Parts: sequence; structure tokens; C-alpha cells
Amino acid sequence: MQNPTKSSKPVPIPDVDREDSKMAYKWRRVLPKKYGREPSPMQLEPKQEIFDELLKRANKYIKDAIEKYKVECVGHAKFIDPRNVIIDPRVRMKCRVPICFGYGSNLNCPPHSPTAEEMREIVDCYNYAIMVSIYPPVENNIFPSILTGVHGDVNLLNEIVSWVEAEATYLGYYLAMGFKGGPCVGCGMWTAEFFKDLMQQKKLPKCPSLEGELCRQYLRARPALEACGVDVFATAVKCGEKPLYVINPEHDKTGVPYVAWHGIVFIM
Ligand code: SF4
Repeated sequence: MQNPTKSSKPVPIPDVDREDSKMAYKWRRVLPKKYGREPSPMQLEPKQEIFDELLKRANKYIKDAIEKYKVECVGHAKFIDPRNVIIDPRVRMKCRVPICFGYGSNLNCPPHSPTAEEMREIVDCYNYAIMVSIYPPVENNIFPSILTGVHGDVNLLNEIVSWVEAEATYLGYYLAMGFKGGPCVGCGMWTAEFFKDLMQQKKLPKCPSLEGELCRQYLRARPALEACGVDVFATAVKCGEKPLYVINPEHDKTGVPYVAWHGIVFIM
């Protein structure tokens, strides 16, 4: 008879008996690059020299990312005052009225993304933020080429925002938090192939996170600012960016002077 007081250690499952996980094999991600840096001390106060360094790195990263992906695009980062971030519940409601193609399609869009109220509460905790802006080719953002072109711009912005957030964390601001514009396109949604299948009425893949699996871009995919109730148009203008144009399907590229995508990384 077993001694009830004896601690029962979990018995490891032998490798041969383990069932293969179907998850993450195809989408396995490389480990983050090691730069051989010293660990940074945590920062509880704003430090101008660290902010200057972060901004310098952010602007360099934007330039490098644009070169790496060979996008005809300009971009920049700058510090903004989080009090200039305009949050309006109507913006999130615009994801539902009329229903946006992104609504309910992934964890970073409504109804799963943080609400305007939650966002207000979070933004109020920060005193420093960086706005990242990119101005990609107009043709990627007008109909019908938006169907095949825009996901690249959104992914570029997502990559820059997630990098700036990680860099702020490395520099000691461990509560840095980044949001980008646009739907979650990290794992192939809204690509040319996706829209081709949509037109052919094929059964489309769903965001794996909605099916209980690991996000394929864990630690990388960022929520859409709009999905959290941020009025990106008004915020960008308030923060000194150029006013944006509202583009409708009838507009061709000659009628649209420029387009912009913005992201925000809240630092501390
Ligand atoms: S699995 Fe893909 S679509 Fe879903 S949240 Fe992650 S990156 Fe976005």
C-alpha cells in the first residue's frame, strides 16, 4: 500500500510516448538576436539621456526596416505627450458600425482588444510616449490594390512598434507598451493569397488564438490603436503630423496626396 505522506513526484512522460504538437512547428520563430549587452537597471524616473538614446535608435531602426523591406516609404519617431492621445468610444464602435472586415477576426481587434475605457485608464498612467509614423506608397492604400498592398505596410509598422517597445524595455522602462494602426496581419491574414481565396469563396483560416492556440506572432503582434478607441487621425494632427485624407473606393492614386500609418509606444 502506498504511503500517503510520501510526496508523489510527477513522472515525466517518455519522449517516445509524446504526441506531436501541431502548433508552432510550421510557424516556429527564430530566437531573438543576442547583442551581448549588459543588463540595464530598471528605470523609475524619466531620464533625458536615455530618452534621447531611445529616440535615436528608434529613428535608425525605422530607416533600417524601410531599407530591409525595400519599401518606398519615409518614417520617423518622436516623443509625444500622452495627454494628446485622443480616445473616443465612437472610434471603437466604427469597427462594428458598419462591421469591419477585421471585427472578431483576431485577438487584436474588437471585441477582444482593450475597450476605450480600459485604454483611457492605461494611457492616463503614462507621462511619456513615442509616436512612430510611416508614409508608405499611396497605391498600397487605395482600392483595389489595398487588398494586396496594405498588409505589408501594417506589418512594417507593427515590426517598428514592437521593436521600439522592446528597446525601451531593454533600456529599463519595463512597462513600455506599444500599439500600432491597422488590423492584425502578422500571420498571413489580408494578404493577396487570403483575398484570392476569399473571392473564390474558399474556407478561410482563422486567427489560431481564437481557437485556443498560441498566437503565431506572440510577443510581436500589437493591438490596433483604433480597436482600443484611439482617434488616430485627430491624435496624429494634435501631435504635429500632417492631416490625413479619408480615402474611399472611388479615389485613385492621383487624387490622394499621401497616406500615413501611426503607432504609439507608451514609455512610462
Ligand atoms: S495568431 Fe496571427 S492573427 Fe491571431 S493575434 Fe496572433 S498574429 Fe494576430
